[in-house]
Amino acid sequence: MNKIQMTTPLVEMDGDEMTRILWAMIKEELLLPFVDLKTEYYDLGLEHRNETNDQVTADSANATKKYGVAVKCATITPNAARMDEYHLKEMWKSPNGTIRAMLDGTVFRAPIIVKGIEPCVKNWKKPITIARHAYGDVYKATEMKIPGAGKVELVYTAEDGSETRETVHDFTGAGVIQGQHNLNGSIESFARSCFTYALDVKQDLWFATKDTISKKYDHTFKDIFQEIFDAEYKETFEKAGITYFYTLIDDAVARVMKSEGGYIWACKNYDGDVMSDMVSSAFGSLAMMTSVLVSPNGYYEYEAAHGTVQRHYYKHLNGEETSTNSVATIFAWSGALRKRGELDQNDALMAFADKLEAACVKTIEEGRMTKDLALITSIANPTVLNSQEFIQEIRKTLEETL
Ligand code: NAP
Ligand code: MG
Repeated sequence: MNKIQMTTPLVEMDGDEMTRILWAMIKEELLLPFVDLKTEYYDLGLEHRNETNDQVTADSANATKKYGVAVKCATITPNAARMDEYHLKEMWKSPNGTIRAMLDGTVFRAPIIVKGIEPCVKNWKKPITIARHAYGDVYKATEMKIPGAGKVELVYTAEDGSETRETVHDFTGAGVIQGQHNLNGSIESFARSCFTYALDVKQDLWFATKDTISKKYDHTFKDIFQEIFDAEYKETFEKAGITYFYTLIDDAVARVMKSEGGYIWACKNYDGDVMSDMVSSAFGSLAMMTSVLVSPNGYYEYEAAHGTVQRHYYKHLNGEETSTNSVATIFAWSGALRKRGELDQNDALMAFADKLEAACVKTIEEGRMTKDLALITSIANPTVLNSQEFIQEIRKTLEETL
């Protein structure tokens, strides 16, 4: 069989622990036999990040700007325990944080739907993709405990020295205050990433805030989205047959619960934090959740939503068998290959990505799966496979369809 050719390389960001093991297996069994895989390889494993003083992370983000599409393996975000374990020179920042900051992107997370792993909200038939704004609000707030009576004001001092004041509250006793901010530039990037992604996957976009109560802060989010939509995306949305829908956050929550899914839900930072955990647990498993970082300039970085599965890795190091689910990592590859195919007008590569995903779904729906899924499936008597067997079974299914 002739291998599928690629014209432009993918930026490949290798990672840590169990997902690094899966990464190599996926390439070996599911990619290299079928695709003449072109990648520019960056080793974001913690040891190499430490050796390069984390330069490799910045290099990989710059390469993503150059080529447009990256695929990333899960990586360790160092903490005190990792400092000792890996003898780190510094507590390096989260690679995802560094890459997101450099690409100015928004993360979209969507569940992978298979028959037999049903969401616990029974009317959800299609994926709900959450887009979380990743800057500001309560995550960059300044807080104060107010010890007793006194006046609290907001003061804005312009560069020319002029002041604008608003009273927050005239305290008669003790209390607390919080100052939040956001930036128009960040909200604009968020909006463009959301509109770009909606067009990409041809799904409606929902956005919600509490603008009736927060008439300046939240209303600015609403206005920026609407202005950018009207000026830049309205016509392309109409052509694509999709809609942009704005409502209040509480109304959005009620509608989401009663919907059948199949849209993107853009959330402010805090709403996205809370709602993405609700949506992902209702759909079943983090191991069945894809994640893609989309920059407002149209750069894409695909990954799995879960971490490096440390507990399984230690079992693996002890020579014990593991049953780690590789689906989200495989979908990171298929997502990146499909996007590469789209940008390069490489139909064969796009078709391969579809078939690879279909092979994962079919293998599970036929009852062959890893332990995490076997525990929650409604399929009777599933065959529980180890990490490697599962990937090999997917390969068999894939070979039948190619
Ligand atoms: P995790 O890797 O997501 O795993 C937490 C638990 O979830 C696992 O112990 C396992 O449960 C289950 N799980 C997650 N993915 C699974 C899969 N593919 N197949 C089967 N079970 C799966 O989170 P963590 O152990 O808290 O974090 C480990 C490291 O990952 C940390 O160093 C963290 O910094 C990093 N992390 C990286 C990213 C990223 O790069 N995007 C994201 C999150 C965390 P059982 O043990 O019960 O089987
Ligand atoms: Mg959270």
